[in-house]
Amino acid sequence: MPQNAPYSRPVKHRYHGKDVEVRHPKVELTGEQFLTGLRFLDNACETHTLNVLFSKGREGERVYELFGKLLSIADRLGGCWWGCDPTKHPVTYLIMRTVGVSRGAIRLMQFGMYDEALTLVRTAGEAANLLMLVERDPASYQEWETGVRLRKKSKLTPLVVRQRLNKLNISSPIHPNRYARLSELVHAAAPVMPQHYSNDTQPRVGGMYQEVGATLVLYELGLAMSLVTAAATKLLMSPGAARRLMRRTVVELADAMLPVCDPPIADDWPIATRMAREAAPTK
Ligand SMILES: [Zn+2]
Repeated sequence: MPQNAPYSRPVKHRYHGKDVEVRHPKVELTGEQFLTGLRFLDNACETHTLNVLFSKGREGERVYELFGKLLSIADRLGGCWWGCDPTKHPVTYLIMRTVGVSRGAIRLMQFGMYDEALTLVRTAGEAANLLMLVERDPASYQEWETGVRLRKKSKLTPLVVRQRLNKLNISSPIHPNRYARLSELVHAAAPVMPQHYSNDTQPRVGGMYQEVGATLVLYELGLAMSLVTAAATKLLMSPGAARRLMRRTVVELADAMLPVCDPPIADDWPIATRMAREAAPTK
């Protein structure tokens, strides 16, 4: 945005019964100026998020550290860092894909693009449910592994996976309600306002820090990645130091998360920490 650009007179918008006054800059930007301006906003938001939410001494600092540690464990699991068993590659490929969407989500969150980050969290949640199912149900594992090996379209859609988890009495925090909330952000006909994480009813898109949006992404992503990593560790690793590292990280992340973000559902983290403890029981 050129400096000292003239602005329009205030324009009234009405959002959910509340009047909001905004002024629009009266200037015709080139495409390059528009994109440069967006990049400037996004980068400034990222710096602000790091300084405010994750700075030294803040409760978020520990969450940020532990989430990074969890992502690095998942990254190593996906990259066969602790040893390669080619028959397990369907699992490692899925983890790597999940690491990719998590990296995208955390970056988008730092840019202030919270809805967009949450749409990626949904993908991590789908991976969590699939891994939780195949880790407990050998028939589903076989069906999934055969499909990947033969490059056939899987019948294990997110809906089928949730139905099987339900049938087998396996509790997952990525249940139909949570999945539906994450899904409604993806669709063009979504009935919710974009980026509505402030209390002034003004939707915002990117480049603007909103603490509720940032902590929500961190919470949902941390939870989904804890489930993914706990289930994958059990599928890939023999009991030992790597499993214990995963357990410590998930349990500590759960503890660190609670002061930062109120859990919308009480069972969310107990399920994740129980899975982590089952994967690496203490003697
Ligand atoms: Zn490998």
